[in-house]
Amino acid sequence: MKKALVCGAGGFIGGHLVRRLKAEGFWVRGVDLKHPEFTPSMADDFVIGDLREALQVQQAMDQPFDEIYQLAADMGGAGYIFAGENDAEIMHNSALINLQVLRRAQLVGSGRIFYSSSACIYPARNQEDPGHPDCHEASAYPAAPDSEYGWEKLFSERIYQAFSRNHGTQVRIARFHNVFGPFGTWCGGKEKAPAALCRKVAEAPEGGEIEIWGDGLQTRSFLYIDECLEGIRRIMDADACDPLNLGSEEMVTIRGLAEMTMAIAGKRLSIRYIPGPQGVRGRRSDNTLIEEKLGWKPSMPLIEGMNVTYPWVLDQLEKGRF
Ligand code: NAD
Repeated sequence: MKKALVCGAGGFIGGHLVRRLKAEGFWVRGVDLKHPEFTPSMADDFVIGDLREALQVQQAMDQPFDEIYQLAADMGGAGYIFAGENDAEIMHNSALINLQVLRRAQLVGSGRIFYSSSACIYPARNQEDPGHPDCHEASAYPAAPDSEYGWEKLFSERIYQAFSRNHGTQVRIARFHNVFGPFGTWCGGKEKAPAALCRKVAEAPEGGEIEIWGDGLQTRSFLYIDECLEGIRRIMDADACDPLNLGSEEMVTIRGLAEMTMAIAGKRLSIRYIPGPQGVRGRRSDNTLIEEKLGWKPSMPLIEGMNVTYPWVLDQLEKGRF
């Protein structure tokens, strides 16, 4: 039986990935600072540990694994990443995790290691036109991410690639573009736009109002969790060591996403546009390279994922889980 380690298994994507790997027949160890918030982990073994700490990394990685998925990061939505006040912690915590996990993976002679990078590594200059953002993989350089979170991701991509060159570590890297779905953070300040809009719409009384940061014309693409898992597994199995985008090509304005959410909820609400952290004006995945390398790309319409996510957030609210 193949053994997998999922770092960040208490988080949104890590929690789903454990379930997927179990369904595929892996023996899975999860490691995280915390257990998953919304549903018990399916991992065979779950280690509570701080991956910034060498000793705790040694304990969690006390043996070689066939596959390691490194998803642990100090992470959040725009309200966390672009606030400015979290920059030092984001960079320090996530860089330490990657340095420790990667070195340990090399020392114990593990198989492949997957690193979850982000669309936030792309230069802000290519994402000023909300209608035509340029996020093809090679456009990452000359580098100019618009957040320290993005700079750390780019730095860590480079460490993984350096280990691949100098130590023969088998590295796989995906640049995730806004992953969403049930069991993701939906309140508390670290939630992202789809979950935040589901919550705002669910909370608002019929005929009421919701708030959106900025003018609502900023664009993004959102990847449903099931397609993210499919992409992670395909990238891990593929012969592709360079970073690949893993995201949807369906671009939507934040205003459009709010209107879609209201339609799903069957509510008519007005929108008030307020100042707030927004990130770049436009962003969407360019899937040319992943399709070329894997013969596959995400294709699920946004509305299908939102049709599943809204009822889940509503259910959380009704059960008072916050
Ligand atoms: P998440 O915040 O739900 O999960 C990250 C997990 O890492 C959390 O459970 C957290 O407790 C854990 N963690 C943080 N510091 C740790 C430490 N010192 N030791 C052990 N565990 C620690 O985030 P997610 O949405 O599941 O994202 C997973 C990965 O994908 C992250 O690396 C993130 O940067 C990347 N990513 C996510 C998205 C997205 O839209 N969700 C987009 C781009 C990139």
